[in-house]
Amino acid sequence: MNILVTGGAGYIGSITTIALIAAGHRPVILDNLHNASAGVIERIAEVAGTRPAFVHGDIRDRALLDALLVREQIDAVIHFAGLKAVGESVAQPLSYFDNNVHGTLVLLAAMQAAGVRTLVFSSSATVYGDAPELPLREDAPTSATNPYGRSKLMVEQVLADLARSDPAWSLTALRYFNPVGAHPSGRLGEDPQGVPNNLMPYIAQVAVGRREFLSIYGDDYPTPDGTGVRDYIHVMDLADGHLAALDHGHGRPGLHVFNLGTGAGVSVREMLAAFGAACGHALPHRIVARRPGDVAACWADPTRAREVLGWQASRDLRTMCEDSWRWQSNNPRGYAA
Ligand code: NAD
Ligand code: UDP
Repeated sequence: MNILVTGGAGYIGSITTIALIAAGHRPVILDNLHNASAGVIERIAEVAGTRPAFVHGDIRDRALLDALLVREQIDAVIHFAGLKAVGESVAQPLSYFDNNVHGTLVLLAAMQAAGVRTLVFSSSATVYGDAPELPLREDAPTSATNPYGRSKLMVEQVLADLARSDPAWSLTALRYFNPVGAHPSGRLGEDPQGVPNNLMPYIAQVAVGRREFLSIYGDDYPTPDGTGVRDYIHVMDLADGHLAALDHGHGRPGLHVFNLGTGAGVSVREMLAAFGAACGHALPHRIVARRPGDVAACWADPTRAREVLGWQASRDLRTMCEDSWRWQSNNPRGYAA
């Protein structure tokens, strides 16, 4: 299939593009490079052996989308493009609603006009809000605790109404838990701008000497070792999950919602120890206060994806850390190196 990959120059989109090429699809990347570098396209070409078509543009540009969907004979869209930093979303909510919600509306309207009716959307476990019960199943109540989460929830609600309005649509929302790791080649990985917000890229930068120590946000949570517990999923497993969702969704009308997680929780201390083993030295850390808004623990019930999509995560914590370390040590300054 000809697949439009919005945000395909980003962390998850670039690695999914490689998986699409390997599976025989023809990806077309649309990215405004707000949070990515053009050099990513070269890296994809190098690793995949095929250069994906790349359009430098914005999902909010309706005329561009209209022309692109027809010219490239797009069959389906995987929609990664958007802004993703929780703290920034609190400071700049309008940017988040504009990129994530308005951007998706423009994309859907263009798809409707062009007769493209299959979409796979990057949602997030953040739509579960402060979950009262673990593990999280897809039918758990949803809520938002910040504008980023609200933008994901709003898009899911739009997709639900769209699916109800016209049975021609096949819309899939994938709720990612905590994506980590890198392509095993060490050529593609996560390259956050500025100080990383998330645990794994922060630890990776400590390991490579860019940061002095990890601040552990609280060790007095009601978890086995007192530190926060999350469901980390290897980005390669996530990429495979998109292929499975695409195969399942194509020609199957309705709204399909799946958790993409491993079903296992890992604490901050466990992650720090596993990364230390991967990079060959213990990593300095300090215990500091809890980060406001953090929950103690969060992990998925991945049963639905296994039963319906035939997909499950297969890469363990060690592989996540080894692949992340290969990427970070080969590219200490990310794509700028
Ligand atoms: P990323 O920032 O690396 O990738 C997003 C890409 O979209 C970037 O390359 C950026 O330049 C592009 N983009 C942003 N706004 C755009 C616009 N208006 N038009 C065109 N391109 C635009 O992020 P990622 O980690 O690869 O995340 C991909 C998707 O998955 C996002 O929608 C994110 O919200 C979602 N998600 C990510 C995580 C995570 O922890 N990484 C977790 C849950 C959900
Ligand atoms: N965390 C931490 N130090 C950091 C970044 C994160 O201790 O510098 C903890 C955080 O409190 C949480 C876990 O690591 O328990 C995962 O945080 P992340 O931001 O990666 O994911 P999220 O909280 O959004 O699930």
